[in-house]
Amino acid sequence: MENQYEIVMGLETHVRIKSETKMFCACRNAVELADEPNLHTCPYCMAFPGALPVLNERVIDLAVRAGQAMRCTVNETSIFDRKSYFYPDNPSGFQITQLYHPIVQHGIVRALVGDEVKSFKIERMHIEADAGKLIHSGNKTLCDYNRAGSPLMEIVTEPDFRSKEDVIGYLEELQKLMRWCGASDADMEKGQLRCDVNISIRKPGETILNNRVELKNINSFSAIGRAIDNEYKRQIKIVETGGKVPQETRGWDDEKGMSSSQRSKEDAMDYRYFPEPDLPPLVISKEFIEARAIGDLPIDRRLKYVNEYKLQADDARILSASRELSDFYEELVKLTNDAKKSCSYITTILFTLFDAHGETISFAGLKFGVEELARVITLVNKDEISSTNAKIVVEELFLNGGKTDAIVDTKKLRQVSDTGALKVIAEKVLADNPNQVAEYKSGKENLFGFFVGQCMKASAGQGNPKMFTEILKGIL
Ligand code: ZN
Ligand code: MN
Repeated sequence: MENQYEIVMGLETHVRIKSETKMFCACRNAVELADEPNLHTCPYCMAFPGALPVLNERVIDLAVRAGQAMRCTVNETSIFDRKSYFYPDNPSGFQITQLYHPIVQHGIVRALVGDEVKSFKIERMHIEADAGKLIHSGNKTLCDYNRAGSPLMEIVTEPDFRSKEDVIGYLEELQKLMRWCGASDADMEKGQLRCDVNISIRKPGETILNNRVELKNINSFSAIGRAIDNEYKRQIKIVETGGKVPQETRGWDDEKGMSSSQRSKEDAMDYRYFPEPDLPPLVISKEFIEARAIGDLPIDRRLKYVNEYKLQADDARILSASRELSDFYEELVKLTNDAKKSCSYITTILFTLFDAHGETISFAGLKFGVEELARVITLVNKDEISSTNAKIVVEELFLNGGKTDAIVDTKKLRQVSDTGALKVIAEKVLADNPNQVAEYKSGKENLFGFFVGQCMKASAGQGNPKMFTEILKGIL
């Protein structure tokens, strides 16, 4: 039954912009929502009569960066509109938003869905002010206006999604893009990224869009899949029993595993949109837009790591997830010309150190520069230090900083590659172990490792094992 219907989805996502202050006033934009209620309020965001909005330039800065990351057109002129509605979380009785002339439109977000790179079209992205938060306890409702007037981006896609995997793939990539360009941490659990899904079904081959249901209140990545599955089945059931899916807004209840109707098409609100009289059109220059261009995106880097650098898919995903980490890795590869070792020195050695010392992974706070780690890899590749000793050097850099070469010398970790000196050691080892030499010569070839081990011991670990091997082979 289910494979007889195609699911068609479009997304509307609200992302909180990570500016220091709110959109139109100097109150702190508390993106973490951990402060006591109504701490970050002023006459403007409490809508006292006569208080006027002053647009925060940083909001525009970050919104333009986000637009660039979504490969959108950023409009030099956009217009704020007033959307009127009454609700207790909104003291002014209207929201300042952008309806007809958004700041950003027509873009593409590419995302990996399984192994496939898919493109999802962005119809528009506008900026608007958030409402406050209502806290229902018992038969009382409390109002917290800390969030009132905080800046949001509303990102609207085309109906390009055909599976829950598409939706989750897109949202994960969108989250990365927002972090990559610095516009938002886009943490869904903290309410910094909120997603509504528009869902309709149709028979395969049909090109019409049937009545859609807007699903709201989806609060986590794991809830998205459940909400979509449930709505898909619900609509099929309606159609199969001869009905027609009514166009409506439904709220998802993840605990109950079901949705319930919030609003039908008939009682759609009239928002009485009109141009916001307290704000002039927003005009930004070409230079302002171009200065915020974003080069490589996380997906570009991820694909490069797999296709050109031949890294494992998982390593490529990890190394491209944050800009800080990815930039560090790129710099390391540039200095060492060794993509695989650069990867393993970060994902195994460094990550293990962060973990062992109970630190969160952060490259900004490292006690050493990327060139010191590059030097370690270069010394290993030149056989000047062993990979075992390299770990000791990296740990010292991690804990106390310093210079790689100085650490190698102080700790006497440099391998001796002087043939003459090594030969003297090898000859002494063989002379001291005549029985083993005799056994080796009579065919017990696995004793060779014993001789190399003895040579390493005799050189206090500083002899080059590859050279010992050559020398021993020569003598024996
Ligand atoms: Zn305020
Ligand atoms: Mn909105």
